Order: sequence, then C-alpha cells, then structure tokens
Amino acid sequence: MDKTATPISFQRVERSLPDLVKNILIHLGEDPYREGLAKTPIRMAKSLRELTAGYHVDIDRLINGALFEVPYNEMVVVKDIAFYSLCEHHMLPFFGHVHVGYLPKGKVVGLSKIPRLVEVFSHRLQIQEKLTKEIAEALNEAVAPRGVGVVVEARHLCLEMRGIETPGGRMITSCMLGTFRRDPRTRAEFLNLVRQST
Ligand SMILES: [Zn+2]
Repeated sequence: MDKTATPISFQRVERSLPDLVKNILIHLGEDPYREGLAKTPIRMAKSLRELTAGYHVDIDRLINGALFEVPYNEMVVVKDIAFYSLCEHHMLPFFGHVHVGYLPKGKVVGLSKIPRLVEVFSHRLQIQEKLTKEIAEALNEAVAPRGVGVVVEARHLCLEMRGIETPGGRMITSCMLGTFRRDPRTRAEFLNLVRQST
C-alpha cells in the first residue's frame, strides 16, 4: 500500500495488534466501543498470538533432549493426534488428526515429543500440505530413522463456512520419506495401522 495514501487515522491505530483488530471491526461496520466488543481487540490479539506461538519454538531444542539410543527397529506409530491450525489464505481454522509413523535406526524420540511437534507446526499460519511435510521432515532430520510417514486428515472451515465444500468433508494429505516412500510393504503396514480403529 502507498504510505502517502494511508489515512492519518489508520496510521495512528496501526501501532498495536489490538488497535488493528479495532480497525477491522470499524471496517466491518461495527462499533468497537459497544459493550460486547470492548474487550474483543485485546482478546483476539491474544488468541492470535497463542495460535501462532509455533513461530517462536526451536525444533532442535524441542527434540534434542528427548532422543534415546535403543536397539528397537520396529515401526513406531502415534496416531489420532488432534490439531488445530489456521489456514494461511483466510486465517480461518482447519483441524483434524495427524498420524505419524517412523522406522527407527537405533534411535527413538520420546513419545510426547511427536504431539508437541504437531502442535508447534500447526500453531503457525499453514496449508495442510506444508504442515504434513514439515512434521515429516522435522522428524526425519531429528531422529534420522529409516523412514517417516505422516498422514493428516482435516476439515477446513474456510471451505465449509464459505460454502465451497460440503460441511464435514475431510481433506487427506500424506508425506512418505525413506523406506516409507521406497518400500510398498512398509507404507502398507503404516497405513493399515492408521486405518485400524482403536
Ligand atoms: Zn483458507
């Protein structure tokens, strides 16, 4: 936007996130000072900060303290990890479940770290494809396993609320690395474990 064309009042409120939210309310034809909305700018700013807190987490530090050398070389699967994210196109929620599997090569990661990894990447502005790939690549890099598989199933409110997709429809994405990509049996074992209801 051309700075010289920006109205003075907009420049004045541009300073803080709550002020920007207040400005959005004005643009929508609302009165940001009416009782119900008076605290909305502060609340919305706080919730946006929380929902994008994943930008400030160091993945190496998150995982490095929780790597264990073990002679276990069978597939590890953590499924049905719930996540909530915001799409980077509309900043509306998309949410669902992530299923993660990997085939260790002498090293495993503490089980609680996998849901944490999902949380960190989903608490950024995302698209589902990128979220899927980032989780798989981060795990692959940190644990250096034989392979990694990630499947994400999600509903997108930007599609459902705007009437572009039938409510309740899920989008499924996957990212397969290493043996999960190369070996159809490994991939099939993972996908079977994911499909089994618990
Ligand atoms: Zn969207």
